[in-house]
Amino acid sequence: MPAKRQVLIVGAGPAGLLAAQELAKHGLGITIIEEGEDVRNRNCPMLKLGYCTHCRLCHFVHGVGGGGAFSDGKLNLNPEIGGNMLEFTTPEHADELLHRVEHFFLKYAGNSEEEGTKDHRVAELERSAKSAGIKFIPIRQRHLGSDRLPKIIERMVADLKKAGVKLLVRTKAEEILVKGGKVKGVVARDLTAKKPLTLKADYVILATGRGGARWMAETCRKLKLDTKFQPLDVGVRVEVPHEIMDAVTKVNWDPKFHIRTKRYDDFVRTFCTNPMGFVITESYEDFICVNGHSMRGKKSENSNFALLVQVALTQPVENTTEYGEGIAKLATIIGGGKPTLQRLGDLRAGRRSTWERIDRSYVSPTLREATPGDISMALPGRIVLDIIEGLDALNKVIPGVAEDETLLYAPEIKFHALRVSVSNLMETKTANLFAAGDGAGVSRGIVGAGVTGLIAADEIIKREKHGR
Ligand SMILES: Cc1cc2nc3c(=O)[nH]c(=O)nc-3n(C[C@H](O)[C@H](O)[C@H](O)COP(=O)(O)OP(=O)(O)OC[C@H]3O[C@@H](n4cnc5c(N)ncnc54)[C@H](O)[C@@H]3O)c2cc1C
Repeated sequence: MPAKRQVLIVGAGPAGLLAAQELAKHGLGITIIEEGEDVRNRNCPMLKLGYCTHCRLCHFVHGVGGGGAFSDGKLNLNPEIGGNMLEFTTPEHADELLHRVEHFFLKYAGNSEEEGTKDHRVAELERSAKSAGIKFIPIRQRHLGSDRLPKIIERMVADLKKAGVKLLVRTKAEEILVKGGKVKGVVARDLTAKKPLTLKADYVILATGRGGARWMAETCRKLKLDTKFQPLDVGVRVEVPHEIMDAVTKVNWDPKFHIRTKRYDDFVRTFCTNPMGFVITESYEDFICVNGHSMRGKKSENSNFALLVQVALTQPVENTTEYGEGIAKLATIIGGGKPTLQRLGDLRAGRRSTWERIDRSYVSPTLREATPGDISMALPGRIVLDIIEGLDALNKVIPGVAEDETLLYAPEIKFHALRVSVSNLMETKTANLFAAGDGAGVSRGIVGAGVTGLIAADEIIKREKHGR
């Protein structure tokens, strides 16, 4: 019997897992290598308390399940959210891929209510947003919940193993082997035994996520693959009593509002809304950022969302990552190593917030490991003015969101990986070397990552069927 043709997948996040389950149906030899831990060993004690203050240390970004494992599990089922899938395929095909990703998650999640489907409340929200000069993007969503995802991933992985997929955890891809313009395998490092491994393969899918962005950039440089910087999103996490957000979050769990500011003509958007959720700190090597999540089993009195300003740089500086890190470092200094927390009223009045003023207010912060301060000392002026203008515009659709008591945490920064130049089939210039998901800069969310993983897997299956 001829030896099985081998596919190697680097990264066990949604892009890698979706690709593996599809490939496993077609008699190929599949190995996933993942530098982090198995999902059961990804300990995140702070998450159990509702807070995660040291995501780097407790395997938040690396490990089986990927960056999505402890995420909120919001599935945004729209081809233009979480990356633009219409760049790669037709609306009909994108729709089919979205359904496949959705069914994959539902198979392991059991029930999960669908939200955001067209009803009169969606139309009403669209109307009131338009009258405030804002675009509301209605999207079909499902919410799995941070506390359920690890179990869901465990079940997915058990099925993959049953289907013959090999999963090597604590194994980091170091180098891609290429001969005659075609990929031949990967040199990896077994992090437990501390020794190198040479893994030969007919196809390689790089699905390294944001956590692997630096390694991906370095790999592209070595292989002379084209890349480009993507715009950066900089802003704050907004926290208000959940009653203020209920009117919109009951229509769409994670409502997407797009705003063009009048002063600078900048693009401002809401992102990652967490009804009755918690604000959390993300720790990076030399700075901190904020994020948010919500859980099915634990609720707060507040809802939070990110309000982000898109920043694209041209010449002489295109490196948005460096610029974003510069902002994050400054914000970390001014917050004394913690996020800066400010009441909107204090920001408008040009004074720092204090615990005394915050504790007197009716919004109690869900993240207390923060420094009451002045966000205008942490973020560039243009961003601060965009945030205030964005909140004032949103206030017309969500009354109460721009009250003095509204809490703002900074910095919230969404770094995006370098965009790797890939074909519509996710293939790089190196034959049979595919790049999918957030690490390749082709997606920005669980669903988009899964879709791009499927596109790569489908192409590999097609080539194998046609003997190429
Ligand atoms: C706090 C938080 C909340 C989020 N909430 C949501 C949400 O509600 N909805 C949503 O759609 N998205 C959410 N996201 C984003 C989502 O998690 C990502 O978009 C998604 O996981 C990207 O999938 P991926 O497969 O591309 O990469 P990842 O999920 O990041 O997986 C990549 C994997 O590759 C591994 N890896 C990297 N480099 C190497 C290497 N050299 N060798 C071996 N392994 C390597 C990493 O360890 C990682 O496990 C959230 C993210 C965070 C951090």
